[in-house]
Amino acid sequence: MNEPFLLSNLIDLQNLDNEIFKLITEKSQGDSVNILKNLEKKYNESTSLLNKKKEDLISYFEEKKSIDKQILENENKLKNILEKLQNPKLDAGELQNFNLQKSNVEKNVNDLSQSLEKLNELNSEDLIDYSKIEESLEGLKPELIEYSKKIQSEWKDLDVKINDLEISKSKLLNSFPEDIVKLYDQLKHNGVEIIAAYKNEDQCGCCGVSLTSSELDKILDSKYNQCPYCQGVVI
Ligand SMILES: [Zn+2]
Repeated sequence: MNEPFLLSNLIDLQNLDNEIFKLITEKSQGDSVNILKNLEKKYNESTSLLNKKKEDLISYFEEKKSIDKQILENENKLKNILEKLQNPKLDAGELQNFNLQKSNVEKNVNDLSQSLEKLNELNSEDLIDYSKIEESLEGLKPELIEYSKKIQSEWKDLDVKINDLEISKSKLLNSFPEDIVKLYDQLKHNGVEIIAAYKNEDQCGCCGVSLTSSELDKILDSKYNQCPYCQGVVI
């Protein structure tokens, strides 16, 4: 024969549920999660700042790209000319021609470099801001990665603990009569904060209300020993 069911088993069930709830809360609100959330917030803010700066600097970037391209083209030209000038068989006319080309291209490179300098000067404030934002974004990346990894491993540990508790809980529930499981679920569903607790002298252990002796008698006579004030099970 089965042993008679003890209402105090409800306290064990409740403790398990509270422990599980605590761990689930820790998963979403633990220190590392909060730190990561803050880091992500900062990262997103910096990203939109950077995008805004990029928009402000759009004509700068276009102009710079075009100058960079021209400089590269001219440098290639210069390289070619210098190679040709290495040829010992050049006659005086060719030599003069290549030297002229060389100084033209050198002047072009020089002019272009000066334009680029001017362009950078004109946009210097925005460019400083831009690189500051970029730096702060880069600085956030290692921290983001570190905390993501940390949380992954913390969650793994928490999941193992939660799983163990769930197993204990289902073992316990299997030993409960069906009507008691229903009662427990119902009280939980109704938002009863403390479902079962030991009586504290004349006080309900669940809600703390002082009970008269006739109320206590009524409770002990009732099927599930429920407090009339909070519906909790008084043991
Ligand atoms: Zn109560």
